[in-house]
Amino acid sequence: MDHPAPPVFRVKDLRKIYRSGEVEVQALRGVDFEASAGDFIVILGPSGSGKSTFLNIIGGLDRATSGEAWFLDHDLGHASEAGLTRYRRDHVGFIFQFYNLVPSLTAFENVKLVTEIARNPMDPAQALALVGLEERMDHFPAQLSGGEQQRVAIARAIAKQPDVLLCDEPTGALDSRTGVKVLEALTTVSARTGATTLVITHNAAIADIADRVVHFADGMIASETRNASRKPASAVSW
Ligand code: ADP
Repeated sequence: MDHPAPPVFRVKDLRKIYRSGEVEVQALRGVDFEASAGDFIVILGPSGSGKSTFLNIIGGLDRATSGEAWFLDHDLGHASEAGLTRYRRDHVGFIFQFYNLVPSLTAFENVKLVTEIARNPMDPAQALALVGLEERMDHFPAQLSGGEQQRVAIARAIAKQPDVLLCDEPTGALDSRTGVKVLEALTTVSARTGATTLVITHNAAIADIADRVVHFADGMIASETRNASRKPASAVSW
């Protein structure tokens, strides 16, 4: 009999307190969460509900105050700084609201920056083709629209063939039509590479493209729903 695959992420009673002087903010107040390989998960919730804090901790960019966060057999809570850096480099692709491309490098060169230090990269041209930018590889960021720049950022994130793709408001700066193109690129690369994908958004319309929808409220997961079927990104608008 086949054993079920172990979860890619296992999070238990995760808490995060930010302290500055007398002021204490409880950003996460006991989050339990699991994700399986290949899941496409949308995280919804109001501003300040802890979504970014959660994503940053499971992405190894920040540490919890208490609780557990595991990526496969990597204990992120007890990893050294060097261990977290290695974890991010080898396993995680990040996509943020702002694309952070290097302005003096072409789309191809921006992706190549990452593939040069990756263990098992794809060809930058192949990554750019996956997001539909094979014709724009030699363009500089300033010669590309916002949506195209975000697709370069997606190509850069997936070119190292990460196990997980963590996206924080990837369409936050884009209009609906452009945002849909970015979501199409994201769902395509996620399916092609099999990366477990988490997408934070405040935009409830985007929830329809997910397998699972996790709702954050007040530093906790308030509820979770599972979509019986996933809508293609092209069928979403806002
Ligand atoms: P969301 O992503 O849902 O908007 P965040 O995770 O960014 O929520 O923030 C959760 C809470 O933690 C908010 O009250 C926010 O102000 C606070 N917070 C986030 N980052 C910091 C920080 N570096 N220092 C202090 N407070 C922070």
